[in-house]
Amino acid sequence: MISPEEAWRIVLKHVRPMRCVSMPLREAAGLCLAEDVRADRDQPPADRSARDGYAARSTDLRRAPCSLRLVGEVAAGSAARPMVAPGTCVRILTGANVPPGADTVVMVEQTREERGAVAFFARAEAGANILRRREDARKGEVLLRKGTVLRAAQIGVCAAVGKARVKVFPRPCVAVLCTGAELRETGAKVRPHEVRNSNGPALCAALTLSGFAGAAHRRAPDDPKRLITLLRRLTARCDVLILTGGVSVGRYDFVEESAKKAGAKVRFHGVAMKPGKPILYATLPGRRHLFGLPGNPLSALTGFYEFALPALLRMSGLPPDRCRPALRLPLRSRLASKGGLVHCVLARLFWEEDGPCLEPVDSRSSADLASGGRADGVIVVPAHVTALDAGDVVTFRPWRPLP
Ligand code: AMP
Ligand code: MG
Repeated sequence: MISPEEAWRIVLKHVRPMRCVSMPLREAAGLCLAEDVRADRDQPPADRSARDGYAARSTDLRRAPCSLRLVGEVAAGSAARPMVAPGTCVRILTGANVPPGADTVVMVEQTREERGAVAFFARAEAGANILRRREDARKGEVLLRKGTVLRAAQIGVCAAVGKARVKVFPRPCVAVLCTGAELRETGAKVRPHEVRNSNGPALCAALTLSGFAGAAHRRAPDDPKRLITLLRRLTARCDVLILTGGVSVGRYDFVEESAKKAGAKVRFHGVAMKPGKPILYATLPGRRHLFGLPGNPLSALTGFYEFALPALLRMSGLPPDRCRPALRLPLRSRLASKGGLVHCVLARLFWEEDGPCLEPVDSRSSADLASGGRADGVIVVPAHVTALDAGDVVTFRPWRPLP
């Protein structure tokens, strides 16, 4: 059986960013840039005042306190360029271009304006309170690299350089298919032999919270014919299909054979990890992908965060090393692991005074969904490790956006 790292390498070998599209900047929040964004002019484009105050010549202010004649005003957005000759000054507001002749700005708090003159109480160095032309960026300089996620600051950068449209990687379209004859929907009455479908709602929520809203969600019985039909129908419509249940070796586990009959090529089936061992990954022609996750609720979520979500992020244009984020955090208490396989141990994140740390969550089995409700993610314990002490730094895979 392959290790989780090997499994991820296989997935990474097959997933590619989606074909890029151009879209209005206002629709692009959260997406990955498919182009470099450059400064369209020098930033700032001219020497600008960083303060409300007076623009003057520093040589006139060597002997403060002193008084200079007021000859004009430049407000932000004003194209006025009154000359600052020796012995004079100009009222200036934050963001306004520094007028010719001036080489310093004195903040208003260090002055007093009276009857056409300004008294200066402090000396001023040349260049003080002036943002120099080009000091932030030169025209043509790359400000955001391809692959950058467009969050608030990056959208601001695009707007500032006049990019009304941006080239981005669209998000892949996802569908979730929960298999199992025993499954009933959330609102339905359940009899003792039936199980409420919790994987579907949990995975759809995980997708929405990760930026993949609107996934189709279907349910199927353990019937190969029906499965093949649904597999064909769903994979025709979306880029990634996430199945749960039916991937083990039981008499009614039909996902692998149905996927093959629907044209999928299985890339791996079985990963040396717990929970999530029977996990299956397959590809379909046309750059489509299929993840078969075990039905137990914690196995399904573990498989989703270990492989399916990282694949979706790669398809969304994130660089490979950013798709499967893990944090290195200290343990708050001892943790025993069985070893032999990589163990994904539920854990809760605590913010202590000196930073975040992890507390393992007691869990009876991969069916113990209630324990998942108390967790923020999993500690990934390597196969050769059987005990970890309080204070040890471990690898944490978050199951939620941070903080
Ligand atoms: P399977 O992987 O199909 O063998 O299912 C393993 C266990 O997970 C069984 O006890 C199933 O009843 C349960 N299970 C399967 N699918 C779901 C689901 N969508 N929601 C909750 N439990 C499930
Ligand atoms: Mg089943």
